Amino acid sequence: MRFLLGLTALAMSSVGFAKVCKLEITGNDQMQYDKKSMEVAADCTEIEVTLKHIGKLPKAAMGHDWVLTETKDEALVVKTAMTAGIAKDYLPDDKSKIIAFTKLIGGGESTSVTFSKDKVKAGTAYTYFCTFPGHAGLMKGEFKVLAK
Ligand code: ZN
Repeated sequence: MRFLLGLTALAMSSVGFAKVCKLEITGNDQMQYDKKSMEVAADCTEIEVTLKHIGKLPKAAMGHDWVLTETKDEALVVKTAMTAGIAKDYLPDDKSKIIAFTKLIGGGESTSVTFSKDKVKAGTAYTYFCTFPGHAGLMKGEFKVLAK
C-alpha cells in the first residue's frame, strides 16, 4: 500500500514538470513554409506546433497543413495523401506512419497540434511537410530533437 502511494506521488510530481514547447511556422501563397528546419529541446514533455497560413488563397487552391513523419516514411505518406482528396484534408486513412498532423487550412487561417515528445527522439531523422498535392516538394523541412 505504501508502495502504491509512493507511485501516485511520483506521477503527480511529474505533471508539475510538464514543459510544453511551442513552435510556430507559416505557409504562404507561394507554396512555402518560412522555416527549413525546426527543433525541440530535450527537456520538452509536450510539443505544440502552430501553423499560420499568411496568404489569401482559399484552401482548395493553396491549402496547407503540417504533417510529421520519420524521414523514411515521407514518400509513402505524400503519395497516399494525394489520393485522399480534399474532403479528408489530403490525409491518408492509414495514419500509422504519421507522428502528428494539423488540419488543412486556407489563407488567413491558423491551426495547431499538440503531441507528446515521447513520440519523437534524438538521433532519428524526421521530416515535416504539406500534403496538399504537389506541395511537399517545396514545403518540407527537417525536424530535430536535441540530445541535450
Ligand atoms: Zn501546402
